[in-house]
Amino acid sequence: MSKLALLILAAAIVGVFGEYPSYEVKSDVVKSYDGYQVLRITPKTWEQLSYLHDVAMTTTELDFWTYPSALNNTVDVMVSPLQRSSFVPELETRQIETKVWIPDVEAVNRAQRNEVSDVPSGFINEAVPRYFTAYQRLAAINNLMNTLASQNSAIARVESIGTSTGGRAINVIQIGTAGTSKPIIFVDSLIHAREWVTGATTMYLAQYLIDQYNANNATVRTLLTNYLFYIVPVVNPDGYEYTHTNERLWRKTRASNSGSTCVGTDPNRNWQYQWNPSLGGSTNPCSEIYSGASAANQPETKALQDYLYANRARIRVYIAVHSYSQLLLWAYGYTSANSPSHSVLSARGTTAIAALTPFYNTRYTLGTITNTLYAAAGNAVDYAFVTCGITLSYTIELRDTGSFGFQLPASQIVPSGIETTAFFLRLAQIADTE
Ligand SMILES: [Zn+2]
Repeated sequence: MSKLALLILAAAIVGVFGEYPSYEVKSDVVKSYDGYQVLRITPKTWEQLSYLHDVAMTTTELDFWTYPSALNNTVDVMVSPLQRSSFVPELETRQIETKVWIPDVEAVNRAQRNEVSDVPSGFINEAVPRYFTAYQRLAAINNLMNTLASQNSAIARVESIGTSTGGRAINVIQIGTAGTSKPIIFVDSLIHAREWVTGATTMYLAQYLIDQYNANNATVRTLLTNYLFYIVPVVNPDGYEYTHTNERLWRKTRASNSGSTCVGTDPNRNWQYQWNPSLGGSTNPCSEIYSGASAANQPETKALQDYLYANRARIRVYIAVHSYSQLLLWAYGYTSANSPSHSVLSARGTTAIAALTPFYNTRYTLGTITNTLYAAAGNAVDYAFVTCGITLSYTIELRDTGSFGFQLPASQIVPSGIETTAFFLRLAQIADTE
């Protein structure tokens, strides 16, 4: 083949992939989950629950996708073949009910790699924007934020609230009509890197608000007149990119830890309020729930914390978006006690979730973090609720409960976007009437 023909061929290939770049797999660095499974374990006695709790709090190897919380509540644990061969006999000895939930993690992973794209900007005003038919890389998320802002400068702007350890900007898109003193609805996602559907869902909210404002939707027009929506889709950009380039199921930040070869801190155990590794966190850098060497020492946590604090007087609603399990949670996460606002949070949360359910009959469970899920001291919602004094502070754990966990197919982005947007809007409406 002549040089010219090669050049033309190369140009043709670049042309194809330049339009819709495919997911690039670097096989030498990408972690394979060959042989990995996720077990679904059901503790039925206090001894079994206590055993699982001890393992979850001390392990540096097993990856708990969900943590032990109560009798008969399932616990999902990802195991390598080697871990399986030692852990399963322990479970059998204690007669703990165990099923294989996801039999082949790598197969799901492979399927999902084909659902990642790098669409360079939004496809605004499409009936189903193509952007939301795939999971987007960080650059594409930032690109859509900037495109939305530049094409709708009267109601949207983007700014950086800080920088990650790896030097990546943590961006907020602010959406609403002019007015710098208006109350704020604050939504953030992807503080945990592997919870891909959360970032896709909050970007769906951003796109929806702008599209519907432009389409003269009366509800959205009223909300964007009365409020500013502040949306931080990717709190942990280093971790998020790492889930695309290296380890799909990475959770933490990517900061190195002195004295350890293990990387990363759980940024949702790192907040200043009631920071305490012994309450649902860990002092071990190799743990998935490592609380960090000190409170707010992670730049991602610190940036978000400072930004919330600076705007606290105007923030009417705070929502930290996580996945998975379909839960709506509120303070506290550091103690099992109920807060003075418990009944208000329960009532408002119930009303807002009722707006979500009708679309696909998605069912949520509601309660405090500690009593519904598990202790998680040093979390965002306790900080927002107590330190910032934002009563309507929630964590929402999005889809699903039964099939995919973190590896939710991209075909569920739009349904998740539709139903969760209804929840966000209802919560904002409730806050508006108070
Ligand atoms: Zn999470």
